Amino acid sequence: MEECIFCRIASGEMYAEVVYGDDRVVAFRDINPQAPVHVLVIPRKHVRSVFDLSPQDGELLSHIFQVIRKISADEGIAEKGVRVLTNVEREAGQSVFHLHFHVLGGRRMLWPPG
Ligand code: 5GP
Ligand code: ZN
Repeated sequence: MEECIFCRIASGEMYAEVVYGDDRVVAFRDINPQAPVHVLVIPRKHVRSVFDLSPQDGELLSHIFQVIRKISADEGIAEKGVRVLTNVEREAGQSVFHLHFHVLGGRRMLWPPG
């Protein structure tokens, strides 16, 4: 998966402003932030989207949400409000085909999201 930019960020081959990392997950700031806080949380292993997760990935997914909570607390947005989202395929807005959760906060979020 050498052509996958998020695999390259996860391996450290490509630079990103990493805010959290462990053996299974990496989190880094979005290069084109849509809110004062905009962090992407990814599994180190290459998965195309949430639709490619298997039942065996349940613990990984649960861990990702623990990490999202920790980052939200560290960034000071956990109490006021956080939008967590993942786009699946192009029409929904997915442009990088390595599973990532957007963690957005620091401003009022609009609904519907557009
Ligand atoms: P998607 O559109 O797939 O839901 O989200 C992909 C996100 O990755 C976008 O918000 C985009 O700004 C971000 N992104 C794309 N390339 C890079 C990169 O090289 N570094 C970082 N930090 N973010 C990136
Ligand atoms: Zn990848």
